[in-house]
Amino acid sequence: MRPIHTLVVHCTATPENRPHTVEDIRRWHKQQGWSDIGYHYVIYLDGTVHAGRPVNQIGAHVAGKNSGSIGVVYVGGCDTNMKPKDTRTPAQKTALRQLLSDLVNKYDIKTLVGHRDFDPKKACPSFDAKREYADLIKGGSK
Ligand SMILES: [Zn+2]
Repeated sequence: MRPIHTLVVHCTATPENRPHTVEDIRRWHKQQGWSDIGYHYVIYLDGTVHAGRPVNQIGAHVAGKNSGSIGVVYVGGCDTNMKPKDTRTPAQKTALRQLLSDLVNKYDIKTLVGHRDFDPKKACPSFDAKREYADLIKGGSK
């Protein structure tokens, strides 16, 4: 297994309440010329967690930080005008926290942030993941 020390939270940047699947995202990413879906886990509107790219493979979700990280994405992140918005359903919030907690327990995670913490030009994931999940990391995210 590759060394994993970072979790990065994303949104799909799709309008609220519009369901999308792993296959949709895989198709979009392949259209960009990537080998597979860029994220490792996808959280649907109903809170179900779906596997994307296998965790033992390096993802394609954050510039310069893919090698030691896992990419987790929730479906949504935009309002109907495609403006950034925290559109997480209650089920997605519950599932996201549980998944991140499980991953922190499974791997030696030192950093848990949102995409925008690595790339301030981005709004992704449309909420402050670093702050919301700081309690999952012992001593806070570094
Ligand atoms: Zn992102």
